[in-house]
Amino acid sequence: MNEILDPFKISQKQLSDACKLANYDNDIYNALSEPERFVEIKITMKMDDGKINTFKGFRSQYNSARGPMKGGIRWHPDESASLVKALSAWMTWKTACVDIPLGGAKGGIICDPRAMSNRELETLARSYIRQLADFIGPNIDVPAPDVYTNPQIMAWMQDEYEKIVRRHAPSVITGKPLPLGGSAGRSIATAKGGVYCIREAARDIGLDLNGATAAIQGYGNAGSWAAKLLKDEYGCNIIAVSDSKGGIYNKNGIDPFAAAEFKEKTRTVVGLKETNQISNEELLELECDILVPAALENQITRENVNNINCKILAELANGPTTPEADENLFKNGILVIPDFLCNAGGVTVSYFEMVQGYYRYFWTEKEVFEALDRVMTRAYRSTVEQAKKYKTHNRMGAYIISLERVIDAMRLRGWL
Ligand code: GLU
Repeated sequence: MNEILDPFKISQKQLSDACKLANYDNDIYNALSEPERFVEIKITMKMDDGKINTFKGFRSQYNSARGPMKGGIRWHPDESASLVKALSAWMTWKTACVDIPLGGAKGGIICDPRAMSNRELETLARSYIRQLADFIGPNIDVPAPDVYTNPQIMAWMQDEYEKIVRRHAPSVITGKPLPLGGSAGRSIATAKGGVYCIREAARDIGLDLNGATAAIQGYGNAGSWAAKLLKDEYGCNIIAVSDSKGGIYNKNGIDPFAAAEFKEKTRTVVGLKETNQISNEELLELECDILVPAALENQITRENVNNINCKILAELANGPTTPEADENLFKNGILVIPDFLCNAGGVTVSYFEMVQGYYRYFWTEKEVFEALDRVMTRAYRSTVEQAKKYKTHNRMGAYIISLERVIDAMRLRGWL
């Protein structure tokens, strides 16, 4: 049988496995297996060269039982309805796993922002919000950055929304720049949260992080910050990093700051001095202590899972591992920190940004990270505990916790 690679089908398979494990019946599965609302939009705009382009966009609002729905917006050529739905499901389990009072959503536009000018990006951002303004809002659904979107794009979106409603409404969006109501620490938050989990995992298996080897796939916001934090704060040896153009390797260590600067100038890490070029596939199979997929989905599959040679697999990306690969990782004794736990630092600090926005009082970065550490450590501990209790892997452990919280809220509301 072919392996399931469709992201939404994967999310449904995970949900169904978790429902079976925790003894929820089919009615509960049906109540949770589709988004509450899925909006598809069309954006037509004039490009700088005068050409008219039409883009397809989406917003999937998966579950609102625990609070306003929350999740990023991805701009990527391979964006799809299925992917956005899957990501919105994972957002629902993510906010529940770290126990913040929010639901789950996700958005996307099929486009290649790397090939667009600033003016084009701004027009696209504003148009997306105009099409969706009736469906989002601080108490409805709150977007944020994701793959290839950033604080500047959030600022344009915030401004467009505020123009439409004719009042300030900074908590309509998070990941904003600091002067517009952003939170200290938000841009590092995803990596920071993942690194707190790695610290806990290393403690559990008796791995000394000082000198531990790490390979990082993906050198965007999450991946590059993870590399810097692992090296700077814990003394890890970063032996390989990569981006969409390929990877680089040096067994004696790569300077993650130099790699980031090099990428800033040349748009890729490939070619950094004193490194050898490797492929993304090779990077995943390197022998190392910590492997961090921080790029896109479906990277660890039936095909390569038995070649994965790390002690801790810290999933900063959403959906990097297929369900079949999960079973094998578990059999092979690899400690997986599952995506919606490992990368929940981003949405947790988004939540702190909303809180600060509501009372218009802003915390220091130290305060943000202390609060984040408490949330992540508690979520990590309860995931591991739950997995042990059910004799399953950590992804299922995380699912069981999240499901219980979402189902509880739905029951209290009388939805179930
Ligand atoms: N896009 C990030 C995620 O996948 C952050 C979402 C948010 O802050 O709402 O978790």
